[in-house]
Amino acid sequence: MSDTDTRDPTSLRTPIVAVLGHVDHGKTSLLDKIRGSAVIEGEAGAITQHIGATAVPLDIISTIAGDLVDPDDFDLPGLLFIDTPGHHSFTTLRSRGGALADIAILVVDVNDGFQPQTLEALDILKRSQTPFIVAANKIDTVPGWNENEDSPINDTYESQSDRVRERLDESLYEIIGNLSDEGFSADLYWRVQNFQRNVGVVPVSAMTGEGVPDLLTVMMGLSQRYMKEEMEIDVAGPGVGTVLEVKEEKGFGTTIDTVLYDGTIRADDQIVVGGMNEPIVTDVRALLQPRPLAEIRTESRFEKVDEVSAASGIKIAAPELADAMAGAPVRVVRDRDIDEVIDEVQAELADIAVDTAEEGVVVKADTLGSLEAMADALDEAEVPIVRAEVGDVAPRDVSVASTAEDGKQKAILGFNVDVLDDAEQRAEIEDVTIFTDEVIYQLIEEYEEYVEGIEQAQQ
Ligand code: GDP
Repeated sequence: MSDTDTRDPTSLRTPIVAVLGHVDHGKTSLLDKIRGSAVIEGEAGAITQHIGATAVPLDIISTIAGDLVDPDDFDLPGLLFIDTPGHHSFTTLRSRGGALADIAILVVDVNDGFQPQTLEALDILKRSQTPFIVAANKIDTVPGWNENEDSPINDTYESQSDRVRERLDESLYEIIGNLSDEGFSADLYWRVQNFQRNVGVVPVSAMTGEGVPDLLTVMMGLSQRYMKEEMEIDVAGPGVGTVLEVKEEKGFGTTIDTVLYDGTIRADDQIVVGGMNEPIVTDVRALLQPRPLAEIRTESRFEKVDEVSAASGIKIAAPELADAMAGAPVRVVRDRDIDEVIDEVQAELADIAVDTAEEGVVVKADTLGSLEAMADALDEAEVPIVRAEVGDVAPRDVSVASTAEDGKQKAILGFNVDVLDDAEQRAEIEDVTIFTDEVIYQLIEEYEEYVEGIEQAQQ
């Protein structure tokens, strides 16, 4: 920090990091490796396990990264990694007007290259304008690879035989080419001068840990550069967050796993939460954090805390949460005017609301963010929507779809959701077709094929 810099470091939020990429490309392994390294390097208790997230403080990052990160160069407290990888949690984590994750790691398996979910993740990153870096993972599987965990990855890369480098280069340049096809100028990270304009590709192994220090270094640099106004927070102010998941918890009833990105929430606060039908006004019953593994005996996996400040992951137990939605806002009322807080929650929900037409398909998704991503993709494909909601496919969705005059619109598109048994039965009777998938554009492709089939049959 320079002498003229008057910012109070405690008022800068910990950057929130999400990990995206195709299934099996190593997202979970990479997160585990980062967490594991942090546990090894840190003294006991140095990293804090949150609900849904892991906080790695700056001093631990700089220990892991060795010479690469000088803590004096940074005024950020560290990084908060969202524990659930994939675009599910990324799209859930939204604040008004955009993604809540400040930066993302896109994991690509060097053997497998770009796959459908890689492209989908890129699309989401593009739309939300989230800066990201690419972790080109599993370099240890390149035949002949000579492991060296202690050197920066560019030195390790240079020290490989020509043959090994050629093999790896082929994969790396394919990834760089794919990124370029999608409109991103990318290069191996040690050749990137300006991370704001170019995507750095960091070869890593989530298995051996090679490249992980480099990855953390680039992420700290990116966060520092992108430090924007939203990252200056009012720590003592009333908390603001987003629901990651709505869960039943034994002894606590319905709880919401929340990422708090501004202010503080206390165990005696009144809160307003976005619900399926209207904002829910309720009083916090308990704030819960996971108990350290060693302390779990027969009692609850959770321990109660009095308050937490942003950025944190916290489980909130409160009455009336049954209708809370993943992706919905959570706001603490405290000494504010309650109507004003309700208005803010409503405005945030309206921001995500999907425009519906008189006729069209029914869309269901697991979170508000993914519902929005679905609606955008359907808009691009010029498919009208009659109803868009968070939740599993239920009989009443079938009733809505069955009233469509146009046979092509007697359809329900479910993203990352289940179909309830009654709904399945009713769909058969009412001649409604239900499509479900975990990849948005595959789901839309399936629907388009179905429409083509109907059109051909009509000719
Ligand atoms: P995810 O679905 O993206 O979360 O992928 P996982 O982290 O579950 O990894 C999928 C498989 O790849 C697992 O069997 C991992 O052990 C393996 N894997 C992940 N990263 C690496 C790596 O860097 N090297 C090797 N050899 N295997 C890896």
